Amino acid sequence: MLAIGSFKLHLLQTESMLLDGGAMFGVIPKLLWSHEIPADEQNRIRMPTRPLLIETGKRVILVDAGIGDKGDAKFNRIYDVRGRPLFEELQRHGFAPDQITDVVITHFHFDHCGGLTRMVNDKPVLTLPKARYHVQKQAVENTVSPNPREQSSFLPFNVEPILDSDRVEQLEGNTAFADGIELVTQFGHTIAMQIVKITAEGRTFLYPCDTIPSSAHLRISWVPAYDILPVVTMREKNSLLRQAVLDQWTLIYAHDPKIEASTIEFNGKHFGMGQTVVI
Ligand SMILES: [Zn+2]
Repeated sequence: MLAIGSFKLHLLQTESMLLDGGAMFGVIPKLLWSHEIPADEQNRIRMPTRPLLIETGKRVILVDAGIGDKGDAKFNRIYDVRGRPLFEELQRHGFAPDQITDVVITHFHFDHCGGLTRMVNDKPVLTLPKARYHVQKQAVENTVSPNPREQSSFLPFNVEPILDSDRVEQLEGNTAFADGIELVTQFGHTIAMQIVKITAEGRTFLYPCDTIPSSAHLRISWVPAYDILPVVTMREKNSLLRQAVLDQWTLIYAHDPKIEASTIEFNGKHFGMGQTVVI
């Protein structure tokens, strides 16, 4: 746990999964990326999923929820999901599901929203019964009628129980979410992913989500092949990282195998990690 001002930040670690290493680094040769994150004999790399919990004093806000435990045998064979689902990880940090007041869903890819639902009597139900779900309107539109390239990342049993509930707030673009908490939309990884900026007492923490999923993605051209608009991701990354260096932000990595968070440095040519930070 890390306290800044009246906020308490808890970085959860729900599951981890195996993803194709080449897909995670787009046009970058394996010769280069495998030095950063080594691959198994099937070219896969293990990546954790790290949701962020913010206590504001008034609200308990969860940002993303990991993969969950609804995957079938085929899903688990492809991704080899390990670890613990959201409700168990919340318990480990001392929170009951009904204490969560708000959920910010950055985007609807399965590794970010799967933990928000659980199978009960063969039906997916909400894990967090009292939360309100804050989503981007454009992201919802893209999720319910997806392009074929992203389709396998949007699983109906992750999405429908949330959208069918009466607990959804649809946001349109950048949003001042709460005092000191800002949501910023990004369009490179998927349509209208919302990332989270937390500022208190002169310190800023950024949860850049899949715009910068790990410290190995700090190099501008190291962009996953999953991204729908890689050139836009590069532009978004560049702008976030410039600001991060200038104002000494701490970046929190949702998928880094080792590093939870770090400050950013620029050596005149490339961005890289400054000091590592444990949350
Ligand atoms: Zn994603």
